[in-house]
Amino acid sequence: PSPLGDHGPARIIAMCNQKGGVGKTTSTINLGAALAEYGRRVLLVDFDPQGALSVGLGVNPMELDLTVYNLLMERGLTADEVLLKTAVPGMDLLPSNIDLSAAEVQLVSEVARESALARALKPLMNDYDYVIIDCQPSLGLLTVNALTAAHSVIVPLECEFFALRGVALLTETIEKVCERLNPDLRLDGILATMYDSRTVHSREVLARVVEAFGEHVFHTVIGRTVRFPETTVAGEPITTYASNSVGAAAYRQLAREVLARCHVE
Ligand code: ADP
Ligand code: MG
Repeated sequence: PSPLGDHGPARIIAMCNQKGGVGKTTSTINLGAALAEYGRRVLLVDFDPQGALSVGLGVNPMELDLTVYNLLMERGLTADEVLLKTAVPGMDLLPSNIDLSAAEVQLVSEVARESALARALKPLMNDYDYVIIDCQPSLGLLTVNALTAAHSVIVPLECEFFALRGVALLTETIEKVCERLNPDLRLDGILATMYDSRTVHSREVLARVVEAFGEHVFHTVIGRTVRFPETTVAGEPITTYASNSVGAAAYRQLAREVLARCHVE
């Protein structure tokens, strides 16, 4: 893919699965970094009060004065007051910390409570090519905000027993948001993660996922490797931490698939 001369309007992707530990945060960081390598301007939104995305990019969430929480709740605050540059050229971060857990409660009484994030992101749309929202592991109001703001959803699925359990609930939620709040929302793809080619089990799970979702499944499969937990400790994407690794190559391939799927429209 060739780099772009002009940027925006951004395509917003929600990285979503109500199950924890399936690779949402890892995929947000590394897909974002790979897209940035290809010359795209990328904004990552940490939308989990745990702040794992921020940590994964070397930010200490406890030390933040302003986070995406303030951007959601305070009128008059602009995104550039909250944005952080990352070590990856062209990739910025809207960080988060435990403050965001209060938004889930406080938003309930607001008008248009489902579109708070969409409103907050609107002024940024022309500055980026991709915005990727790292969702929390729940289908609560924060996740509904992410789905309302998004053009499409990527669902990481761990190649493990019961991976498909809960996916029906997730697709129902996506359909409801589509009907009621965001008619343009669509499922970009299912991303198989933590695949272990040495086990029959991983291969069986992958076959069942492809059976269930067909062409919605990305051709890219993310293998299980200890390199990913290492990158969290290092606070950087695998594309810079271990640029020549299999894991880095996988997320670059995913980035090319994402770029290609967008062109189709
Ligand atoms: P989620 O955001 O869905 O909770 P994470 O991306 O935080 O999931 O991943 C959960 C844990 O698994 C983290 O410790 C992460 O480093 C690790 N991990 C993620 N992807 C892989 C992978 N492909 N292989 C091995 N470990 C992984
Ligand atoms: Mg996470």
